Amino acid sequence: MQMATMKNDAHQENMRMKRESSPLELDLPSALEQVNNLCNDCGACVKNCAFLQKYGSPGQLAKELADGSAANLSRAYECSLCGLCTTLCPQGCDPSGMFFQARRQANADLGDDKRHGVLRNYEAQGTSPRFTWYALPQDCDTIFFPGCNIPGSRPEIVKLLFQHMQQVIPNLGVVMDCCCKPSHDLGRTDFFREMFGELRSYLLDNGIKKVLCACPNCFKVFSMYGGGLETEMVYALLDANELPQAEKVTGEVCVHDPCPLRNESAVHEAARSILRKKGLKIAPQRRERKKTLCCGEGGAVPCMAPDLAKKWPEIRVKDIQGRPLVTYCAGCALFLGRHTPTHHLLDIIYKPKETLDGRVKPAPSPITYWNRIQLKKWFQRNLPAEAARERSLPYGASGESAGGAGFKGALFAFAGGLLCGFKKIK
Ligand code: SF4
Ligand code: SF4
Ligand code: SF4
Repeated sequence: MQMATMKNDAHQENMRMKRESSPLELDLPSALEQVNNLCNDCGACVKNCAFLQKYGSPGQLAKELADGSAANLSRAYECSLCGLCTTLCPQGCDPSGMFFQARRQANADLGDDKRHGVLRNYEAQGTSPRFTWYALPQDCDTIFFPGCNIPGSRPEIVKLLFQHMQQVIPNLGVVMDCCCKPSHDLGRTDFFREMFGELRSYLLDNGIKKVLCACPNCFKVFSMYGGGLETEMVYALLDANELPQAEKVTGEVCVHDPCPLRNESAVHEAARSILRKKGLKIAPQRRERKKTLCCGEGGAVPCMAPDLAKKWPEIRVKDIQGRPLVTYCAGCALFLGRHTPTHHLLDIIYKPKETLDGRVKPAPSPITYWNRIQLKKWFQRNLPAEAARERSLPYGASGESAGGAGFKGALFAFAGGLLCGFKKIK
């Protein structure tokens, strides 16, 4: 099989520019100034967003945020950080960026909010020695970074996908770790910088040049902060080569593009091309690609304002008029799947008929923790590595000690194993 990638100069230039304007180099006063100067209260963004409908236009909110009060800063945790307002604004305002800066300021002033504890713990597990595994074979310059959700919910598919990509990239390595996007979005800037910075340095020091992501959030983090590393979604690679499973199906679906990828037109196209190759027709919608919606889970809004989070799937459900949805983010598939039948593209690739018939059930938590350990063991048995490691937390995530996170991880994994009859990956 010939290797074919989506590498092109325009994309690389785009990535370089994104990194140079890193949101971590900006601050709240500059974001407020931008919105104050440009927003004319036209309402184009407000029409589409329940958060703005509740609190007011970005221009009005910029004036309120300027007082720096805890109440006003904390409101930013009810914004999904989905970027739709920024895309729609005819004046070039970046309200999404402003709410991100408000979160950073809120975290600096007020510290961690206990309502985000579950998410912080999830990330602490993902970065702990128990769940991490780096395996870089000899002459490896490309790694697969599957993220946290897919290894837990679909470990067999991760195994098959890895083996398939090995046919294209024989020295492919694997890194099971968390990109720390949860901390990034919660405004925990120092923690994110330290954790992602250490991950990136390890990869660069070991000669890695390219990262293949299965999770849109991981892709976004590597694209924005992974200077020196080329980043690609696995769907671009899959589409550019022979698909792993030839079975075809018929039917019509709608596509939910994950909001972190709203500006990645090559990935939108790859996902649709794969669906067409599987035999499916794609019904167009009003809100897709660049104008896609949040699934509802974005920005950890369900922890703070579940009623606002639910508004997004309500709009999506109206748009699709009873057709099945396909998405390429495991988080979106889970959240939207509570409102309407929603399938992950990887399930369609590997088990198309079973998936469309509703017979494919991704593993739920805490089985996910058991699965991640089993998948790690499978990589340890099957991928000989020149460089390998588990990762140690440089300091306790969520204010916990690394030992505390480790104990909880062992407990979750045991409970998950009990629930699934200690099923192993062969
Ligand atoms: S939820 Fe999305 S559209 Fe609404 S303000 Fe936040 S980033 Fe903008
Ligand atoms: S679309 Fe732009 S100008 Fe109009 S209200 Fe929203 S931020 Fe302001
Ligand atoms: S963004 Fe990726 S690594 Fe981070 S929590 Fe989601 S799946 Fe895990």
